[in-house]
Amino acid sequence: MNLQSLIFDTHAHYDDKRFDQDREKFLSTPQSHGILGLINVGTDLGSSQTGVFYAKKYKHIYCSIGVHPICINNLPSNYLSILENLTHNKKVVAVGEIGLDYHYNPHSKEEQMKRFEEQLELAAKLNLPIIIHSRDSVKNTLDIIKNAHPKRFVVHCFSYDPETAAKILEMGGFLGFTGILTFKNSKHIRETLQLTPFEKTLIETDCPYMAPEPFRGERCDSRMLISVASTIAKQKQLPLKKTITTLNENARKFFFEAIK
Ligand SMILES: [Zn+2]
Repeated sequence: MNLQSLIFDTHAHYDDKRFDQDREKFLSTPQSHGILGLINVGTDLGSSQTGVFYAKKYKHIYCSIGVHPICINNLPSNYLSILENLTHNKKVVAVGEIGLDYHYNPHSKEEQMKRFEEQLELAAKLNLPIIIHSRDSVKNTLDIIKNAHPKRFVVHCFSYDPETAAKILEMGGFLGFTGILTFKNSKHIRETLQLTPFEKTLIETDCPYMAPEPFRGERCDSRMLISVASTIAKQKQLPLKKTITTLNENARKFFFEAIK
C-alpha cells in the first residue's frame, strides 16, 4: 500500500441503500480502496445519525450532520437541537449538506431558505465548517451566503458557471469537484478548476452519485476518486502525487483545523 497515493474523500454517502451489499469493506478498510479516509455527509436526521454511528465504529471515517434541501419536509420542530446533540462526537467535522435545490424541490423555496439560514446559524454557533448544496438556485444561494458570511464553507459538487465560481471564491468559499469534472461536456467545470486557486480546491466522490469517466452512469464508490484526481493533475499540469498531497492538505485544513 502506497500511503502517498491515498486520497481523502471529502464527501460520500455510504448510508445510501446502494451500498447495502458492500459498504462494510469501504468503511472498514478504505485504504485498500485508494482512500485515506472519508466524510460521510448527512442529508437528513437519519443519515446524520448513521454517519455518527459509522464514525464511532470505523477509524478512518468522519461525518457531517445536516438536512439537505430536498429532505426538509416533516422536520420535527426541535431538529436543530437533535443535530446539535450529534456534534458532541468529535468526529463530526462539518454541518451539511445544507442549501437550496430548486431542481428537485421547486415548490418550497421559502421553506428551503429558512432551513438553510437556520443551519448556517447552527454552524456558526458550533464553529464548524459548512458543506453547501446548490442546484438551480444561484441567486438565492449567493444572497444567503453573503448575509450569513460563514467563516469556512465549500460549495460541493460545483456545477455552475465560472462567473458564479468567481463570486463564491471572492466570498472566501472553497469549491468541491466530483466526477462531473471528467465528463466530455463539462468544459465549464474544467475552466472553473483553472480559475480556482489550488488551495481552495477540494475533491469528492459524492458517491453513490457522480461516477467519473470511464464509469459514468455506474454506482460511484471510493475506488473511482483516483480518476477525478488524475483529471485535476492533468488540468493543473502537476504530477499526480503532488496533486493528491495538496488536495489532502486542503481537506485537512478545511475540516480539521480550528476556525479562528
Ligand atoms: Zn452529497
